[in-house]
Amino acid sequence: MFSEQIDQSILKEIYDKAISVSDFGKVATYIPELSLMSPNLFSLSCVIAGSGEIIQTGDADTYFTMQSISKILSLSYAIEKFGMDKVFKSVDMEPTADSFNSLMRLEMASPIPANPFMNAGAIVICSILQKELGRESFNEITNFCELFTGTKPKLNQKVFNSEMSTADRNKSLAYFLNSTPGLLMDSVENSLDLYIKLCSLECTTLDLAKIADVLSCGGKSSFTGKYPLSFETVKTIMGIMITCGLYNGSGECAVRVGIPAKSGVSGGILAVAPGKMGIGVFSPPLDSKGNSLAGLYALEMLSDKLNLRGVKILD
Ligand code: GLU
Repeated sequence: MFSEQIDQSILKEIYDKAISVSDFGKVATYIPELSLMSPNLFSLSCVIAGSGEIIQTGDADTYFTMQSISKILSLSYAIEKFGMDKVFKSVDMEPTADSFNSLMRLEMASPIPANPFMNAGAIVICSILQKELGRESFNEITNFCELFTGTKPKLNQKVFNSEMSTADRNKSLAYFLNSTPGLLMDSVENSLDLYIKLCSLECTTLDLAKIADVLSCGGKSSFTGKYPLSFETVKTIMGIMITCGLYNGSGECAVRVGIPAKSGVSGGILAVAPGKMGIGVFSPPLDSKGNSLAGLYALEMLSDKLNLRGVKILD
């Protein structure tokens, strides 16, 4: 049984090694409120597929904001409610070597964002949600999140205000997108408001592991017993996670960890070991590409120790 291979001593060893790596990273400062997070925080939560058994270590009670990990929720919701054709008419599903908030490609290559995990792509998804759901959009996504985690996530108002007041880059992206007729389905203001609210949703690593559990189990939650996702959505989300989940660090993550993952600039990473477990990890110091340094290291160790890639050497 897979669950017998993982125990507290493995997590303790990972914790001890990963925490020392975090010294080499830098906590995000471009959203001032994020810079207040202690660089010493670390937590790792795992949910075993099917049984829902929880195993975790570190500061597991600490709340942090989802940031780009919320792009999994907005994209999944949009696919579930409005279908693949509508979603992928205005955003592509291709990786890029660009940073998460890059503007360049929109002018140089195509006005259609390369994928829904780049900020530009996620803003387009939020514009669809805003157009279809209006004022209910934020409430709908938090209700949707509850199907995965069993609790409705809260908005961190301080992070929201901080990000809104420093969102020049995302505003530029939204205005640029809006210059292509028909691409943004709602106003720049409404689309950005939803985008930044979703980035400011609070979670723990256990919440992330519970969301990952649904992906790991093909759409069913081991906790709520609900089916928030169809298999088609699971396939799509995991494909985009493996190719685009860590932005221009996605290739490195695929090599080092080898399973689908999605990062956020607050220092969280959600990872899925298909059919095995859902994982959430958090450590605020980031590498140069905006991904949690210790988080990535911890996932690499976990993947190697538990053979999360599922490679079998046959005789
Ligand atoms: N709220 C962040 C931004 O838009 C999300 C980026 C991230 O987590 O990678 O800049």
